[in-house]
Amino acid sequence: MKITYRPWIVSGILLAGISLAPIRSHVAADDKPLYGYSAESSQSERQWEEKLRAVPSTDNLRAYMEHLSAKPHHVGSPRDKENAEWIAEKFKEFGLDTHIESYDVLFPTPKERQVELLDCGASGTNCQTKFTAKLEEPSLPEDPTSNQKSEQLPTFNAYSRDGDVTAPLVYVNYGIPEDYEQLEKLGVSVKGAIVISRYGHSWRGIKPKVAAEHGAIGCLIYSDPHEDGYFRGETFPGGAYRPKDGAQRGSVADDPIYPGDPLTPGVAATKNAKRLELKDVPVITKIPVLPISYADAQPLLASLAGPVPPAGWRGNLPLTYRVGPSTMKVHLKVKFNWDLKPIYDVIGKIPGTTDGDQWVIRGNHHDAWVNGAEDPISGQVAILEEARSFGELLKQGWKPKRTIIYCAWDAEEPGLIGSTEWVEEHGEELRLHAVAYINSDSNARGYLGAEGSHTLEKLVNDVAHDVQDPETKLSVWKREQLAEIEAASTAEERQEVRSRSDLRIGALGSGSDYGAFLQHAGIASLNIGYGGEDGGGIYHSIYDDFYWYTHFSDVDFVYGRALAQTGSTAVMRLADADILPFEFTNFAETVQTYVKELKKLLKEKQEEIGERNREIEEGVFEAVNDPRHPTVAPKAESVPPFLNFAPLDNAVAELTKSAEAYKKAYEVASAKADFGKASAATLNLLLAQNEQQLTREEGLPGRPWFKHEIYAPGQYTGYEAKTLPAVREALELKHWKQAEDAVVVVAKVLQSEAEYISAVAAKLSALH
Ligand SMILES: [Zn+2]
Repeated sequence: MKITYRPWIVSGILLAGISLAPIRSHVAADDKPLYGYSAESSQSERQWEEKLRAVPSTDNLRAYMEHLSAKPHHVGSPRDKENAEWIAEKFKEFGLDTHIESYDVLFPTPKERQVELLDCGASGTNCQTKFTAKLEEPSLPEDPTSNQKSEQLPTFNAYSRDGDVTAPLVYVNYGIPEDYEQLEKLGVSVKGAIVISRYGHSWRGIKPKVAAEHGAIGCLIYSDPHEDGYFRGETFPGGAYRPKDGAQRGSVADDPIYPGDPLTPGVAATKNAKRLELKDVPVITKIPVLPISYADAQPLLASLAGPVPPAGWRGNLPLTYRVGPSTMKVHLKVKFNWDLKPIYDVIGKIPGTTDGDQWVIRGNHHDAWVNGAEDPISGQVAILEEARSFGELLKQGWKPKRTIIYCAWDAEEPGLIGSTEWVEEHGEELRLHAVAYINSDSNARGYLGAEGSHTLEKLVNDVAHDVQDPETKLSVWKREQLAEIEAASTAEERQEVRSRSDLRIGALGSGSDYGAFLQHAGIASLNIGYGGEDGGGIYHSIYDDFYWYTHFSDVDFVYGRALAQTGSTAVMRLADADILPFEFTNFAETVQTYVKELKKLLKEKQEEIGERNREIEEGVFEAVNDPRHPTVAPKAESVPPFLNFAPLDNAVAELTKSAEAYKKAYEVASAKADFGKASAATLNLLLAQNEQQLTREEGLPGRPWFKHEIYAPGQYTGYEAKTLPAVREALELKHWKQAEDAVVVVAKVLQSEAEYISAVAAKLSALH
């Protein structure tokens, strides 16, 4: 898996004519102290940070990538282990106290894969094969690693169940819940059918889940050139985009129930761990699934009969898109080896001096689906350069206050497994010691993207002011701000971007290794990376390799260097701060916007259902029904009741008050000269553990592994975050009573968070 690239913004901007303000490259005497630092410690911190940011070398980044992506290195492959050992050696060479932690996890690999189109005649029994899918990505002469056939995993979806099914085909667009509403309207059912869905608009694991819920017996997922192929740009190897035979591997486990090793939910997959039996694993798909290329999808889509769907359903293959069902049948067969495989997490530490029992953790995964130059090595190489940078500073006499831990995770691709098992094994220590976790994954050319805990929104903004964009020489913060002004669709939005001191960061859903830290253990987390200027179509294919990356992405590795500078600065700022740089007014204000969204969501549901009921009564649907292209009228539904959001409003008011109290206490404290000398150990511990106040041991309804009450991946989106998930998802699923109950539960969490922040503010005031 990887982050679905959602930087703060993705559109490009024209910078000609903008006066380029230099970033703060020298420390002016009158500069405001860094947040969390006294004037004196701020000055020394800034000097060390400048030295830190001077270390990363683009030549090194390139050399690491060439080595780490030289061979396929998926979970269970010899190269996966060798890469882990190589990274560990590098960490040691840089001066980190390093070891490897290993787990044994379920990782199925394909034994049989077959997709064919059968013409079974009028009798339905005398079947002739009309087309057999190739299911093969050809090697290319100009791309030297694309021919490592014997070491490449074939195209498949991990954690599809075994299956052998033959049935008519139905096209379901992206295969998300609203697509099935449209199918119902068109009078087409997927019951007993095999569905074909295109990639996009959800995490891939959602597609077979929703298909099975509607009675389908098999699922194909293909890359349509509209999202991923020639419609976007010239295809590889002439251009960056997905060629016709390229297919997207990836996990389809139901990770929104729990990520990590499917056999050991909630506990580490150690040698003697108690394991579920395969038949009892809830996250394995209910139906067989296989990803295919658009070359393989085209004859299947051309076989569909039935209605022509609305424009939003049509891709860019040269055919008339129809919904189906097909008159011919599709035969889908998949069979897997259901083996346990060893995985290797690399953990490297730099011990802290005065506050060594507080840990700042930084990570990226090292495993890939195939060679994985972009995903994940483009991020992993920055991690290596960061570790080297800290090593260089140690030689120059710098020592961190807090312990810094660099991690290279294994088995992220099949389901965030390496990081999840590690967090599950060390949960208790982490809750006591972890300050924050900063993740990255794939990296590319463009804008800084950041998502995460809103108590760290100020930190990541502050850091972005101090990193230079390699193309424009603006700070990466300024460039992002200007890009957001360009992309804003209303005057209000533009006004906010211009006047708010911090750019907003998005909430974390799922898609990379922050999941277990944030949503299971309640550790404040950030996910950072650059991107947005280059597209591409090699994601999870054999073409994601060194040749592609060095021709079509961050070819001179200057954004790799920017990521190393950004990540290491954030780590250092957390590791050396006098008072940990958490900030609460941004958080409180953001939660307030979430509550507003919930109210709006209910109102929209009321209006939508009310309007539809009215149209049913008026006979609108009968009147517009075209007998030659019939549609099915919806059924009347009861209009959602009014719900009481007052507990949330009250809690947010308290939260806002407490955040202001902390801000004031901080301002008073930081105005005093002895700020840095204050004995702040217990205060910092309280700050580090703040995020845990936002979790509940019981977890979210129906998925107790997810304990965070503010952020979770959506059960029907996968990647995308659902904020205040217990309430929001109940509203979306029209479970009104459950929504109202959840309002009370979440309000209680926010109330106690407000009390907690007030207590921390009091503690801060008492320091002086
Ligand atoms: Zn990745």
